[in-house]
Formats: sequence, structure tokens, C-alpha cells
Amino acid sequence: AQQRRTLIAGNWKMNGSLSANSGLLGDLLAASIESASEVLVCVPSVYLAQCDALLAKTSIAFGAQDVSAHQSGAYTGEVSPAMLADFSCKYVIVGHSERRAYHHESNELVAQKSLQALRSNICPIVCVGETLEQREAGKTNEVVVTQLQAVMDVLDDGALARIVVAYEPVWAIGTGKTATPEMAQEVHAVLRKTLAERSAFAAEKVRILYGGSMKPDNAKELLVMPDIDGGLIGGAALKAVDFLAIIAAA
Ligand code: PEP
Repeated sequence: AQQRRTLIAGNWKMNGSLSANSGLLGDLLAASIESASEVLVCVPSVYLAQCDALLAKTSIAFGAQDVSAHQSGAYTGEVSPAMLADFSCKYVIVGHSERRAYHHESNELVAQKSLQALRSNICPIVCVGETLEQREAGKTNEVVVTQLQAVMDVLDDGALARIVVAYEPVWAIGTGKTATPEMAQEVHAVLRKTLAERSAFAAEKVRILYGGSMKPDNAKELLVMPDIDGGLIGGAALKAVDFLAIIAAA
């Protein structure tokens, strides 16, 4: 984690309203975060304009939670990477397990979304992670490497070095169950090695976040692990005190 700037990213999921967001962002801004870490909130796309208005020229970056794999055209209901870029959006989560599960997103679709986001200068946060069943069957490494490899296959080395990866064990998301620091580190090291087999430079650059019930009381022990470069935080990102405590722990 030494050479890489820690990234603390909130995933608001489908929560918020104009008034709740302005309250939460107001509380975060009022805390005038003094952190060496990069702080990010990933919001429903309809609130990007609000974030652009409230967060421009502040130390909090904002991103989206999904993006189309296409740049424009007849894709009703989708939002293109260029549209995200229009609102100064810096990041987009791709392949979150909820989208893989409820919207049947394949590894190949996640790879295309990552590629198209990068073309609009938006950094994809590529989520990977195993289900409980896969972990119990001893397939964790195979699953996450296959998910990452699909994205690596469509990117050149320069683009690869710009992505962020988030390891989110599906059984830990929203369940209150967290991977132990050792369990998470083991998978993060496998992901780093997978990147290194392709490009030593990318392996050094790419930040690998941990996600899955990260909270103020477990953030520090996770974030000190050598290959954990930050966190992707769901539930605890919706309360300013909790999110700020995680930022302080980083
Ligand atoms: C997530 O959905 O990305 C997540 C990590 O959620 P939670 O922190 O609530 O487990």
C-alpha cells in the first residue's frame, strides 16, 4: 500500500434523496477531512449533478455505480461514460456483485464497461468476489482471477494501470460478516500477482480495495495489510460519523 494512495470509496447503492444527500455531504465537508487518502462517494447517477454542484473544488471526489458498455445510441435507460464525464464524474463502479446477480452481468460485459469508461477518462472500480458456496468449494482464487482476467484481456498495459479493483466477497456484503485481514490479504495478493504476470508496472500502480461490511471498528486492521489499498464501503458510507471514522482509520 506504500506507493499507492489509499482510496476510501463509499457506495451509496440505491439510497439517498436531494435533501438526505445534501445533509450527508454537508456533514462530510464540515469535517474538513485532512487525510492523505483519496475520498470518494459513488452515488446514483441522477445525483451526479448535485455532487458536481456541491463537491466541485472540494477534497471529496464522486463517481457512479454503473455505466453502459456503449457510447451512445438506442440503449434505453442506460447512461454512457461520456454522460458521466459531463458531470466531472471521476470513477464508476463496474461489476458490483448486486449487478452481476440481479442484472446477470457477465465478466465480458464488465470488461466492456471498464474499457468504455476508460475511453471517457473515467476510472472503473472493477468488483470481483466469490460467493459463500464458491469459497467453501475452494474456488475463491479461481473465481476472482477469472473475473479480473476478463477485464485484463480487453485493456492494454497503460489502461490496465489506471483501473481500481475491489475485492468484495459476496458473503460479506451487507451481512455484517467481514473477511479477516488475513483472508482478504491472501486474495489481494493473488489479484496483485495476476496483474504482475501481465505488467509489473500495473501491479505496482493498481489499487485493490477491500469491500464487505467494512466498519469503523474493523477498518484499520484491514487497511494495514500490504495489498489492501483502501475500502469500498456500503452501509457505513451512509452515516457521516461512520464514514469519517473509516477515513480517519486509513
Ligand atoms: C458494497 O456493496 O460494496 C459493500 C461493501 O457493502 P457493505 O459495506 O454494506 O457490506
